[in-house]
Amino acid sequence: MSVDFEAFQTMMVHATAQRVRAIAPVVTPSAAFGYSDAQEAEAIFSGEAQLPLYARVGNPTNAKLESALATMEGGLGAIATASGMGALAMVLTALLETGDEVLCIGGFFGGTFTLVKETFARFGIKSSFCETEDFDTIESKLQAGIKLVLLESVGNPSLTLPDLPRIFALCRRYKTLSLIDNTATPILLRPLELGADFVMYSTTKNIAGFAGPLGGAVIFRAVNEADDTLLDAKYAALHKFVKKAGKKAFMPILKKRALRDMGMTASALSSYITLLGLETLPLRVARVNQTVEKVVAILSERLPQDIRVNHPSLPTDAQHARYKAQFSQGCGPIFTLECGSKARAFALLDRLKLAIITANIGDNRTLALHMASTIYRDFGESDRRYLGVSEGLVRVSVGLESAEAIAEDFLQAANGL
Ligand SMILES: *Cc1c(COP(=O)(O)O)cnc(C)c1O
Repeated sequence: MSVDFEAFQTMMVHATAQRVRAIAPVVTPSAAFGYSDAQEAEAIFSGEAQLPLYARVGNPTNAKLESALATMEGGLGAIATASGMGALAMVLTALLETGDEVLCIGGFFGGTFTLVKETFARFGIKSSFCETEDFDTIESKLQAGIKLVLLESVGNPSLTLPDLPRIFALCRRYKTLSLIDNTATPILLRPLELGADFVMYSTTKNIAGFAGPLGGAVIFRAVNEADDTLLDAKYAALHKFVKKAGKKAFMPILKKRALRDMGMTASALSSYITLLGLETLPLRVARVNQTVEKVVAILSERLPQDIRVNHPSLPTDAQHARYKAQFSQGCGPIFTLECGSKARAFALLDRLKLAIITANIGDNRTLALHMASTIYRDFGESDRRYLGVSEGLVRVSVGLESAEAIAEDFLQAANGL
């Protein structure tokens, strides 16, 4: 399936703007909002009147970002959060209770891994992890009645690519909700269309694109009031929201069971700055993903033998067929370099002139980082192996520079070792 970047760019410049009065997004950095009278206050609190209530549960600037993201994903609605981790925490808190279990499939960002494995475990929420191709485990966990499937569209930094249509079909069959982290692949993948229930982003990354605002978002689908995964008996605690809000039930589920009480809300200023990035997202995604393929092709031919470039666009990569089938125009900004040892990885990083050494991805500039000594430094050996983090692994996130300039930077660094 090819991605129509032109159509997305046309959609997004309008989804982020207004046609009359201020064209640019309007920033409303007010914590409180006055109500015209007591009756209006009651109507706002009951949900009958769609007016701002108090900034912890939303504000007009967040609402603009939320509607633009819902348009981009083909979702019913969205909620902007203070960070990507806030978005994950919101969904997990809203859906899960002590004794529930989450199944995590494939590779994960370090923060997601510790959120589930350590933080939610402290509240009696269990988790299990399995490889993307381990369908025996996936099916037996679904059969056993787990509450949520969590996965990343592209494992960061493992670059594992799950078979999304097959996994979402199994979730539907066993009536289990799914949450996909699409941070690396906005525009390239529309997970709600493939059958996901929730899509989350760290908007800090590709969506803003310039390492300015920290932010996150969750986009959700409409609930089918006649027949929906959510109506399964294991989600009985959530059924009252379907009775009250119908197809919009995921909105109060997320707001009332997490955002209102825990306050992981985005600020109006962050949402405004994020919107400025979002309006050019399709252009940047198209460009970066072409560049990634060019850079890894050059590096795979010209790097010294003892440094290996990993990316599923390479014909020699084990996941190349799935890449072609699921990600015809790229799987995001990341590729990795296997340098063999920490010392060689450090030496390579220290010789880079263009790429910036930092813990971020999806920036307009090319970024690089040694994984084991930074994000994954507190992880045990077996967790690192599961997450695809070896001693010599360097993660690279490709930016808007020319492909030749990026490749040249890594070649000069590698050749000088
Ligand atoms: C960065 C990142 C997160 C966390 O987002 P923050 O905005 O830093 O909280 C989650 N998932 C992925 C894939 C990420 O790259």
